[in-house]
Amino acid sequence: MPIYNEIESIPSLLSAIATTLQAEGLPYEIVCVDDGSEDGSAELLKQEAQRRSDLRAVLLRRNYGQTAAMAAGFHYAQAPAIVTLDGDLQNDPADIPLLLSKLNEGYDLVSGWRKNRQDAALTRLLPSKIANWLIGRVTGVTLHDYGCSLKAYRAELVADMNLYGELHRFLPALAFIEGARITELPVRHHARRFGRSKYGLGRTLRVVMDLATVFFMKKFLTRPMHVFGLLGLGSIGLGTLLGLYLTFLKLGLGQSIGDRPLLILVVVLLLTGVQLFSFGLLAELLMRTYHESQGRPIYRVREVVNRGAGSPT
Ligand code: UDP
Ligand code: MG
Repeated sequence: MPIYNEIESIPSLLSAIATTLQAEGLPYEIVCVDDGSEDGSAELLKQEAQRRSDLRAVLLRRNYGQTAAMAAGFHYAQAPAIVTLDGDLQNDPADIPLLLSKLNEGYDLVSGWRKNRQDAALTRLLPSKIANWLIGRVTGVTLHDYGCSLKAYRAELVADMNLYGELHRFLPALAFIEGARITELPVRHHARRFGRSKYGLGRTLRVVMDLATVFFMKKFLTRPMHVFGLLGLGSIGLGTLLGLYLTFLKLGLGQSIGDRPLLILVVVLLLTGVQLFSFGLLAELLMRTYHESQGRPIYRVREVVNRGAGSPT
């Protein structure tokens, strides 16, 4: 749970989670990441974590944003299944067992779908509708509600996903790129009772930019030259053709070409083409560094099956 100034919600949230999971008889640990709160949430979490054994409080030094807080949570979580939810009581802990049983049907990620979302219509619901549609079109994962924080993950899935920017809402898309099995489940959603939302309309633009990143990662992460090289070649090709035409006019027909806009276009096309092409080469180098420095293979293995030596029979 990422926590940023949610002091009023913390006590009821902790007890709601504990009650639900104890009723199910599931072993669990609650990981709360305080994202540099200024309202005493950090102190409260620290106290609680010293008092009860089912809570791990991770206190960040300053406010990094929800994505970073969630990444920290993933890092410190130790269970084989991880459930994320907001620290503002908008998600309902009573939905956790439902998500987990869905996960046990063999999915790697189960995403909550706030069918009855309780947020402002114009500033939140509408942008969110558009964003969900766009994300679905671009990433090829069709969920109704990417923004819902209530999700369940298999731990090994998040272990090798790196989060930047506001990428937490793209986790299903990123997981899909990694070949995960994904599904969604309608969940409850409540209006905010305490505190204020940390987001407004400004988030929409950031989501669009993150979407561009995800699109690029999905399509071209391991072959950037195929994008930039192709664009560069196209630009160089067109520039060369037009340049030859101008050369013919000048040398063949003796026309003056110095004052023609076409000449400028030729120069721009050729320069851009060369730049795009070299950009592609650089991107290839970067991509190799990215994968090799982290020992990050370009594929993901779900399972290796083998009845030979080493495995107990
Ligand atoms: N949050 C955070 N760091 C931030 C902003 C938000 O950890 O910089 C947490 C916040 O405490 C809440 C969750 O992220 O638990 C979602 O934030 P919020 O409820 O404001 O978003 P909304 O539900 O309005 O989309
Ligand atoms: Mg909220």
